[in-house]
Amino acid sequence: MNTQLSDRINSVTPSATLEMAAKARELRAAGKDIIGLSLGEPDFNTPEYIKQAAIQAVNDDYNSYTPVDGYVDLKDAIITKFKRDNDLSYNHSQLVVSTGAKQALYNVAQVVLNDGDEVVLPCPYWVSYSDIVKLAGGVPVEVATSIDTDFKMTPEQLEAAITPKTKMLWYSSPCNPSGSIYSKEELRALADVLQKYPQIVVVSDEIYEHINYGVTAHASMAAFEDMYDRTVTVNGVAKAFAMTGWRIGYIGAPTYIARACNKLQGQVTSGANCIAQRAVITALVESPDRVQFMIDKFKGRRTLILDLLNNIEGFKCNEPEGAFYVFPDVTAHFGKTYKGTTINNASDFAMYLLEHANVATVTGDAFGNGNCIRISYAASEDEIKEAVSRIKTALS
Ligand code: PMP
Ligand code: GLU
Repeated sequence: MNTQLSDRINSVTPSATLEMAAKARELRAAGKDIIGLSLGEPDFNTPEYIKQAAIQAVNDDYNSYTPVDGYVDLKDAIITKFKRDNDLSYNHSQLVVSTGAKQALYNVAQVVLNDGDEVVLPCPYWVSYSDIVKLAGGVPVEVATSIDTDFKMTPEQLEAAITPKTKMLWYSSPCNPSGSIYSKEELRALADVLQKYPQIVVVSDEIYEHINYGVTAHASMAAFEDMYDRTVTVNGVAKAFAMTGWRIGYIGAPTYIARACNKLQGQVTSGANCIAQRAVITALVESPDRVQFMIDKFKGRRTLILDLLNNIEGFKCNEPEGAFYVFPDVTAHFGKTYKGTTINNASDFAMYLLEHANVATVTGDAFGNGNCIRISYAASEDEIKEAVSRIKTALS
């Protein structure tokens, strides 16, 4: 810890997903043949029709600052998308376009939380939630779930976690890292609990919405009339459109929250990249059917990796319904010694796989669940087969 730096930054944990990806890159540069299953990043190229929209924008001289909260016609596209896919009606003042869904989430935490406000985070949660909350002075309240409830929080657990200091409930569905999806009925049951606590704002991170394998239909908390005025719906193009590096995310929110995010962003980034915004108009206006081929591929890979992992002793896998991660419980390996290395926890296990199988995964600790590791199957079938075969050998 460097005492010249602020307490704020010293209290932040580096992003485990990005750190593991960097470590894998480093090892690869040193000549090691690492298979990276750590980063949640589609291995597809951005579709041609979206790339063409960006090229057109460059040629059309889109080069000035954009409105802080996004181009008006991008907001039109977002309005169309929310109506078409989620039956949600927003007006322009309720929308903010940001530099990735990550910044959108950061903005919301900054404008809603005061020091000491509690945020209910069903575990496992996406790696950055707890640090984004802490950076805003909030206190993460982790609610443990397990593979037995498909990693979903029950209404009883939500009720038990709420205190007079609770200001937010924050989750992703489809969930990173578990792939679980809350059905409309399950969300309704959580909303029923929240009726008693009107001070609680819900952050519904729906960035994996389109990566859904057809078991449970996507549902949005804000689509319930009684939740609309206190739910922030977060989405983005990184995952379904293979646009991670373009860095565009957005929110639909109560006006007072959206305007506060706009004010914050005006002092921090001045708005998201202009060319990327132009490309995202095309991504959102066109039918999501155009990216279905990627989702079909992810679905095939999910079946493949589940079949392979279920053949290795000590991997207890849930069946992810969306996103592109499996989150196996690996506690059966704790306390065991392989090749002279004793595995005491999920971090040891992930490190062992990196060093002895040359496969990068992420420890579940980073997601608030120390029994599991996260494996991303946004990789080719050959890589998945080779990675699991190496894991099996390293553990035999
Ligand atoms: N939410 C979840 C659940 C994610 O997995 C990610 C990962 N990228 C984000 C938000 C951030 O998305 P973006 O790349 O648009 O910042
Ligand atoms: N969201 C992805 C993941 O969970 C990308 C990395 C990151 O943004 O942390 O791996």
